[in-house]
Amino acid sequence: MNFNADYSERKALLAQAVQALEAFYSDTESLKVSADWNPKEIRQYIARYQFDSPQASEQVLKDVLEGLKAYAVHTPHPLYFGLFNPRAGFSAALADFITAVYNPQMAAWSHAPYANEVENYLGQKFGEKMGYTPGKIDGTFCSGGAESNITALLCALNFHFPAYREEGLQGIKEKPIIYCSAEAHHSVLRAAMVAGLGKKAVVEIPTNAQLQMDTKVLEQQMEADLAQGKYPFMLAATAGTTGLGAIDNLGQCAAISQRYHLWFHVDAAYGGALVLAEEYRSLFAGIEQSHSITIDLHKWFSVPMAASLFLTSQPEILSQTFGLYTEYMPRRGTLNGVVDPYTHSIQWSRRFIGLKMYLPLAIYGWKGFEEMILHQMEMGDRLRELLEKEGWIIQNETPLPIVCFDHPDLTEEDILKMNQIITAEGQAW
Ligand SMILES: *Cc1c(COP(=O)(O)O)cnc(C)c1O
Repeated sequence: MNFNADYSERKALLAQAVQALEAFYSDTESLKVSADWNPKEIRQYIARYQFDSPQASEQVLKDVLEGLKAYAVHTPHPLYFGLFNPRAGFSAALADFITAVYNPQMAAWSHAPYANEVENYLGQKFGEKMGYTPGKIDGTFCSGGAESNITALLCALNFHFPAYREEGLQGIKEKPIIYCSAEAHHSVLRAAMVAGLGKKAVVEIPTNAQLQMDTKVLEQQMEADLAQGKYPFMLAATAGTTGLGAIDNLGQCAAISQRYHLWFHVDAAYGGALVLAEEYRSLFAGIEQSHSITIDLHKWFSVPMAASLFLTSQPEILSQTFGLYTEYMPRRGTLNGVVDPYTHSIQWSRRFIGLKMYLPLAIYGWKGFEEMILHQMEMGDRLRELLEKEGWIIQNETPLPIVCFDHPDLTEEDILKMNQIITAEGQAW
């Protein structure tokens, strides 16, 4: 079998794909946003290929493209108003294709110097944007916010409990405690589950009237936990909660973390992009004092999944947490004074994630991203204004374009009708 296909077949398949993708890209509006799916129908559609004999590539490609078009919520649709699943920018999507073809192996620096240095460069640039000290920034690209948050928790454990690396939790006598807001993303809980601490190690702090973590309650809770002999070691603040868009008071969180010697993590998976807009920068005051930050590129940066950036102001911690050396890995990286990513991350062999951020950022610059972000901020304000004018009640207070609303006259029937519009009719989501 020739997995490379020959030139004429490649050309034909590319042309076929480009035509279908272009139709989707330029005329997404003509599609239904979603539908009332029938799982049986979809499974049958997929099972038309039993893999017992080769098939014509043109037909297989056609079916795949049709399947993705027919059976998916089209988040790039202008009437998709759901959570942070952006339309992938074209240059970012192109970068993903280019990456797949060159397929650089990111595990060792010496195997993919360009790709590695692109990611290092991006890490430095994003770290500086967050207010970290140039030259003291480290980070790693992750599959998503969930992996970035697990990375943060593992770094925090290694930072506080040097025995953790060799002995694991059995090397820790105290009961380690993590604090986050009750509105924090559940990947923080998952991180505690994965690390072996269990969900109960995470204490969710109630929110204040602004839907931010109530830092008074946080301090009381921590005092109570300390009095019981527990070991608070991490504060995971959120800059842009998933459901309500609240930005925790990062300045207060930083001060408390310093006072109680906590690893201060900021989960800015979605909201962190707003740091690029100077006029909103003050909302993030304190983020520069954090030990680590989660920022998703596949949310507000319009990069296709899966792309997240874990940043840290503690340059030694990733090697301390993930470093291992084996005979079968090339050593050149370490000898040259550069870091081999596999000693630095949960993943080992890894995709070149950074290109889909580097390419659009080089083309549009920070300015281009700031413009896009400010435009969406304006759309959020406009939506709030129009809803209020029509008698709707806005339920959440946030500058972010996350709008939760309700109407006093809304009946059960109205809600069913709205569900109908979303699912069966697919007019909007
Ligand atoms: C989306 C989100 C996550 C999870 O990120 P994934 O990229 O879905 O893994 C974590 N935290 C916050 C605040 C989020 O909004």
